[in-house]
Amino acid sequence: MSITVSSLGKKYGQQWAVDHIDFSIKSGEIVGFLGPNGAGKSTTMKMITGYIPPTVGSIEVCGIDAVENSIEARRKIGYLPEHNPLYLDMFVLEYLDYTAGLSGVKDRKSAANKAIELTQLGPERTKKIGQLSKGYRQRVGLAQALIHNPDVLILDEPTSGLDPIQVMEMREVIKNLGHQKTVLLSTHIMQEVEAMCSRVIIINKGTIVANGGIEQLRNNQALTQITVRVEFSSAIQQPWFNEIAEVQSFIGINPTTFEIVGNTSDLREKISRKAAEKGDVIIALQQEENSLENIFKTVTGHVGRI
Ligand code: ATP
Repeated sequence: MSITVSSLGKKYGQQWAVDHIDFSIKSGEIVGFLGPNGAGKSTTMKMITGYIPPTVGSIEVCGIDAVENSIEARRKIGYLPEHNPLYLDMFVLEYLDYTAGLSGVKDRKSAANKAIELTQLGPERTKKIGQLSKGYRQRVGLAQALIHNPDVLILDEPTSGLDPIQVMEMREVIKNLGHQKTVLLSTHIMQEVEAMCSRVIIINKGTIVANGGIEQLRNNQALTQITVRVEFSSAIQQPWFNEIAEVQSFIGINPTTFEIVGNTSDLREKISRKAAEKGDVIIALQQEENSLENIFKTVTGHVGRI
């Protein structure tokens, strides 16, 4: 395992910002760490990277006890914090050479060049950091995280604040890095996880509420909320959808079209049978894919381990 956290917790005053969580990440995985604002993502990342000590629990990074041997563990980790401070007056190459020195890298020049190559910063290498766009500044932060060739990358909201093109480019860079490194990246954007990650860990109010492969989560009945859009040949005067036990709610789009939400994968069949029984004719029936967004809403709507 590249990262293993066990019963990890951080208490601020009376509040458990991270409340005894457990997860592990295998070498070579890109894992999305998803959660709403204040869920505990940054706090967890800061503990793994040794920036703050945990209140309870253990952290292992590449077989090293990161609580006991924080400095040794940090050599294995590249960290891009949420608010990454950079020296705006320094040139890109100069800055990376400098951070290579701080990280104790022997061949600073080749480390800086390698980091520039991996983050596709080549055309900007001779510019001052203060002259770069936000997207390129973020890449400088990523290059800095990579400078000592770590096995594990911890990226806290790496695409936050970037424009759509820069977001796409950054995702591409991270995906490529995932071929060589273990990556844990936080986000509260569902599409981000779908675009880059093989697995997702969802945290809410300090507790892990889902952990699994994206397909596995999609197929998990307990997390499934199916939405079916039904169009009838004529107006439904008295909607009968609640007579189906598995239907949780419905809304009328217009007198002939309804969106029906239920917790069964054969909701379409149940609606069709009931419609036939009622003598109503269905002319269109479409099921929404169980998106990660729906799963996110479902799991963050109820707290607790699943
Ligand atoms: P965001 O997506 O907004 O960055 P997050 O999931 O990263 O959120 P954290 O920053 O880890 O969340 O915060 C978790 C909880 O811990 C929040 O309620 C936050 O207010 C609290 N918290 C974080 N740092 C401190 C601190 N230094 N002192 C007190 N409370 C803190």
